[in-house]
Amino acid sequence: MRALVIGGGIAGPVTALALQKAGIDAAVFEAYDTTADGVGGMLTVAPNGLAALKIAGLEAEFGDPLRHMVMADAQGRTLGRITGGTSRVVTRAELYQRLRERTVAQRIKVEHGKRLVEVESREDGVTATFSDGTSESGDVLVGADGIRSAVREIIDPGAPEPEYVGLLGFGSYAESSGVHGDPESMYFVFGSSFLGYWEQPDGKIAWFTNLAVPEPMTAAEMAAIPAESWLDRLRVAYGDDLPAKRLLAHSSTVIGGGPLEMMPTVPRWHHDRMVLVGDSAHAPSASSGQGASLAAESAVQLARCLRDIRDIPTAFATYEQLRRPRVEGIAARAARTNSNKRGIGPITRLLMPLVMKTFGAKAFTKDQNYRIDWDAQVSR
Ligand SMILES: Cc1cc2nc3c(=O)[nH]c(=O)nc-3n(C[C@H](O)[C@H](O)[C@H](O)COP(=O)(O)OP(=O)(O)OC[C@H]3O[C@@H](n4cnc5c(N)ncnc54)[C@H](O)[C@@H]3O)c2cc1C
Repeated sequence: MRALVIGGGIAGPVTALALQKAGIDAAVFEAYDTTADGVGGMLTVAPNGLAALKIAGLEAEFGDPLRHMVMADAQGRTLGRITGGTSRVVTRAELYQRLRERTVAQRIKVEHGKRLVEVESREDGVTATFSDGTSESGDVLVGADGIRSAVREIIDPGAPEPEYVGLLGFGSYAESSGVHGDPESMYFVFGSSFLGYWEQPDGKIAWFTNLAVPEPMTAAEMAAIPAESWLDRLRVAYGDDLPAKRLLAHSSTVIGGGPLEMMPTVPRWHHDRMVLVGDSAHAPSASSGQGASLAAESAVQLARCLRDIRDIPTAFATYEQLRRPRVEGIAARAARTNSNKRGIGPITRLLMPLVMKTFGAKAFTKDQNYRIDWDAQVSR
């Protein structure tokens, strides 16, 4: 079997690696002419995502390790604490680079400048046509082409579009701010607005936050506005909140800002010989901290299904059954978190330790403990 994997971001390379492990020949076709080195901000890979990446051959030797989540208010009071397995916080650029090294080592073909525009799905195979006029044929086509997926549109022209959640995301680093933390903890501060931060091994504080802005902006439009203007807006939004005030005073750049988006439920994940994986099928909002992890899990599950089930439509249907409840549960929880990230009221703040103890911590641990048994036979 030969698989055409459309999209060379995160899900694409993981899918190709997992397919190769399943004995299926895979090639990756990426729209951009160049590699994405240095592009993007920070993302978290949770323990469940690290386990899926390990199956695909990528060890958790990237980024910085994190073990605890600490919820705090803007006066520095701890509201709750969750200890899970070890996650890794990493720039998208580094994760992408590691996956690229792995695909090169495994001699998986990754072609750039191949923007998919059309698919012909026949009884005996599938042919992808790219904007440069070239085409490729295979047995299955995997749409790992992100939140604005062309494959999703081809599978179902009525498929929903990503939704802007009303928040712009920003990240940066603060030097010599006087703010410190346990290096293995990520802190989530619920004040006038929401702010997350952690201390890096070099002592700098990495932080990320959201700004409620009703009209969406693209990452390019955001990048056209000077960093100092965004930082000033954030300083006004946070006022005297701690540690935001100190971190913003000691930051001079904004890294990888972009609109926070999520995919509403995608009704069709597959059709004929085409199937979706990663953000094209299920992009929970960034609040979940699970986007890249779920993409890796889906890639591995798809490879298992194609390994064990000969009939392609049945393999795709089984893959969807395995994945849909999990990814939609996490997306729903992330949507609830978004409303908290606009800032929480005094009552919620008071109840936060209890809420975290009973609901948050339980769901969080369950999400992180999910493991795929690669060797187990997939049953229909
Ligand atoms: C440039 C970039 C920066 C990002 N930065 C962050 C970040 O800072 N923090 C964060 O949490 N998440 C970020 N993400 C999203 C994150 O990578 C994903 O949520 C997650 O890793 C799932 O990955 P994915 O491979 O499904 O989608 P993506 O990572 O979006 O990859 C999809 C790939 O498909 C390619 N593609 C799209 N259309 C076509 C087409 N028609 N033909 C061929 N190829 C196509 C895209 O160029 C891209 O390389 C970023 C995504 C991108 C593309």
